Amino acid sequence: MNKVIVLLSGGMDSATLLWLAKRDFNKVWAISFDYGQRHRVELKYAKELASIAGVEEHIIVDTPIYRSIKGSALIDESVDVPSGEYPENEPPITTVPMRNLNFLAIAAAFADAYEIDHIGIGVHALDTPYPDCRPEFITSAEAAINAGSVLTAKRKLRIHVWAPFLGMTKRDIALLGKELGVPYEKTYSCYRGTEPPCGECPTCRQRKEALKGILP
Ligand SMILES: [Zn+2]
Repeated sequence: MNKVIVLLSGGMDSATLLWLAKRDFNKVWAISFDYGQRHRVELKYAKELASIAGVEEHIIVDTPIYRSIKGSALIDESVDVPSGEYPENEPPITTVPMRNLNFLAIAAAFADAYEIDHIGIGVHALDTPYPDCRPEFITSAEAAINAGSVLTAKRKLRIHVWAPFLGMTKRDIALLGKELGVPYEKTYSCYRGTEPPCGECPTCRQRKEALKGILP
C-alpha cells in the first residue's frame, strides 16, 4: 500500500504536506475538521486546495463537542487571540485541548475503514509550544493507533503517522513548497479568521516570515 490521508487545515503547512503527499504517494485523501474554530473560513481554503490537488476524496468532519470547551482562544469567543509571538515556556492560549489526538483518532478510523496505511500531519519544529505537536506525542499517537487498529490486527501491517516536517522550520517548509509548486496564495493561516488576514496574530507573523520572497 502506498496511500495517505492528510490532515488539511487550509494553512501553508498542511497544504505543503498535501503537495508532498501527491508527489510521494499513489493515492491521497484529505481530511478537515469543522470544530467551531474562530477561523472557520479556513475550510473554504481547504476545500479549494483539496480540489486543486485532486485528492481521492476530501472528508470534512464535524466535531461540535469543541464548541462547548472554554478557555482556548481558537474556540472560545470570549478569549482574545493575542498579537505578537508565542510565549516561550508554556502552551499558548490558542492551544485547543487534545485537538491532534482527536483529529488523528478520527483520521485513523478512516484509515482503518479505507485501508490507508499513512496518516499525514504537518506539525513542525516551531509548533513545539503546543503539547500535541511534540515528537513524543506523534510517536505515542502512532503506537495507540496501531494498538487499536483493525487494519493492523487483520493485515499485520502498521499505520504510520507521517510527520515529515517535525525537524523543519516553517521557512524550510515554505522553501520545499515553492519547489513543489504549492499555491500559497490559496492558503489561509490567520487565527482571527478575518478576510483579509489580520497580519498581527502569531500565525500571521510566522506565515509572513516564512513566505518572505516566496509570496508577494
Ligand atoms: Zn492573523
